[in-house]
Amino acid sequence: MRSQKNTKNPPELCIDCSACTKHCEFLEKYDINLLDFSKRDDLAYNCFLCDKCYAVCPKDISGNEIALNLRAKNPKPFKYLKFLKSPYIYANNSLKKSRELMFFGCNFPAFLPRTTRKIIEIFEPLGIDFSIDCCGKPLFETTTKFEDTKDHLNKLFEQKEVETLILACPNCYHFLKDKVDIKLKTIYEKFEELGLNRTIEEEAHMFYPCPERIEKPIFESFKKYLPNVKNSFKNVNCCGLGGLAKSNEKSIANGYCQMIKDEQTPNVYTYCATCSGNFQRNGIKNIKHIATVMAGVNETPSTNYVANALSLKFYKRGRK
Ligand code: SF4
Ligand code: SF4
Ligand code: SF4
Repeated sequence: MRSQKNTKNPPELCIDCSACTKHCEFLEKYDINLLDFSKRDDLAYNCFLCDKCYAVCPKDISGNEIALNLRAKNPKPFKYLKFLKSPYIYANNSLKKSRELMFFGCNFPAFLPRTTRKIIEIFEPLGIDFSIDCCGKPLFETTTKFEDTKDHLNKLFEQKEVETLILACPNCYHFLKDKVDIKLKTIYEKFEELGLNRTIEEEAHMFYPCPERIEKPIFESFKKYLPNVKNSFKNVNCCGLGGLAKSNEKSIANGYCQMIKDEQTPNVYTYCATCSGNFQRNGIKNIKHIATVMAGVNETPSTNYVANALSLKFYKRGRK
């Protein structure tokens, strides 16, 4: 497997080597490779968009790209998702000017509410405001459209005179990196500037979120603080929530969590709040989010998603 991949090639270049099928439970279930998948409109919403196939394909063909192309041809309405995320009903923004802005995304505050409050408290005296809002990725994955969210975010960043976004969510980071004209910084880079990162001495069994499949800029930004990190879940392609595929492929999605449990590691570290929340919901023990540890908070991911999102919608709403 190569670590450097810069292009995604059309499925017609497939040489029928089966590597993708062998590494993907979804392709295996339907006994297809990526070329076959590209002709299956009916399976557009069964792919987890995790791109494990791209990582192993000798011709650099991407299941994520194929699925998004199929979805663009035949978009499903996902009305509830649109109602929830566009605009995000639990958004919390202000007009306060903020050269650097802590952009939490939508899921991080709902799964890690105490960590969210602590990060806000750390940044507030430094004049760094926060935004709780959706980056647009979930809706993009249904229709490949981003224009409405892009306009909304650009207007917000312009009003607040933002020059740099600080990000804690790997989905937001990788989704926005080539879509907004603003410098991005990981929360661990900001913590580094402030001397807040701390070393995690124990063996840390890391689940890498799928946006960091090929390159890992977020992991790179804190890895020196994890001298005993272990890549214990390399055969688990996704936490199960990727690509909105769970409703069509429930047993595969649940199987990913079972694979994590089967490893019987003493802990499961991750740096994706959505992964951590999904693991918690599925009964995986001792989940630790890196931002929580670095912020000095002892927090298990919460399963009270709506209550947390609602309370943070109004948190420091009247900030000056
Ligand atoms: S993106 Fe993931 S789920 Fe989709 S085909 Fe590739 S490996 Fe399978
Ligand atoms: S790994 Fe690539 S080349 Fe091999 S079967 Fe799959 S799509 Fe074709
Ligand atoms: S929640 Fe994490 S593993 Fe699941 S799809 Fe998102 S990034 Fe991938």
